[in-house]
Amino acid sequence: MKQVKCPNCGATFDVIETASFSTCPYCGYTFNIQTLQEWTHYFFPVYFNQNSAWLKLRSFILRRYGVPHDFYESSNINNITLHYVPLHIFHAEAEATCQHKKSSATYHKVLDLTVPAYSGFWFDSILRSHKFSVRGKTFFKPSILEKGKYYPPSISSESAKNLSQSIITSLVLREANESCRGYSQVSKVDVNYIGLVHYPIWEFYYSYKNESFKGLIDGTNGRVMFVEYPLSREAKTFLLVSSVAIVTASSLGGMLIGLVLVGNAILGFCLGLVGSLASSAPLLLTAFSLKERGSEEISKKDSLLSAVEWASLVEKFIGFRTNVPITFDL
Ligand SMILES: [Zn+2]
Repeated sequence: MKQVKCPNCGATFDVIETASFSTCPYCGYTFNIQTLQEWTHYFFPVYFNQNSAWLKLRSFILRRYGVPHDFYESSNINNITLHYVPLHIFHAEAEATCQHKKSSATYHKVLDLTVPAYSGFWFDSILRSHKFSVRGKTFFKPSILEKGKYYPPSISSESAKNLSQSIITSLVLREANESCRGYSQVSKVDVNYIGLVHYPIWEFYYSYKNESFKGLIDGTNGRVMFVEYPLSREAKTFLLVSSVAIVTASSLGGMLIGLVLVGNAILGFCLGLVGSLASSAPLLLTAFSLKERGSEEISKKDSLLSAVEWASLVEKFIGFRTNVPITFDL
């Protein structure tokens, strides 16, 4: 800890050693500790309070495949924390030009980027990929310090800016390379710092039948950032049976192909076995583990389905029915 003096009201208070900015707990003034310059500081209000966040978390889980029937009645909150996590926000613009034969094309990308300004949470990687709200922020008020856990930024805006520059550069290059067959290069990058924002995240620890699970809800837009939830016995059995079925079917298929192509059934069998074990590994892992995970961030464009989503698809198409209601929107 080190002591700093607020350049606005003169109060002195302690901050952690690594902090590069600080917000005065007395007047709310945010400044750079080295230069004492004022920093633009916002926060996002909590639009989803504790009760609506908990409701959102449970209704999200109820829509997942394989959740026990009594999940709603039998799940209880053990602990809730409201975290105010610091983020640097940038307005980023980039342009790439592609030269193909005699013509050229220009691609633009404009984005508001948020980069975490603090690390040390178990959910650091979730924060990095989360789509935060960008609208609805207001100027920082010290009164929010009482409502949740507040974290001073420990990552400088300069290094966050460098990261934003490389993100926008790779995004615009990817777009150019996907649509143009010629040679693309970045012709303009413009990243402007908007300010520091403190963003509310609900962290839940809940229990279902003496087992503990956790979840994260965006306090501003109510999105489910991460959840862990139990799977019913039927769902686990189904996962196990289907992975055994995959392994058996492809090993036998491999044996047949091996016999026909190279006259070696054992080689084919082994190749089929290895391949299918690899492909059904996520299913097997889920069937044997106690928890399944989910998030609203797993978007439609994600090509890798989670094991349970995969199982619910199989169930839909082959008509295998457990007595668990399924809703799966693709
Ligand atoms: Zn002050």
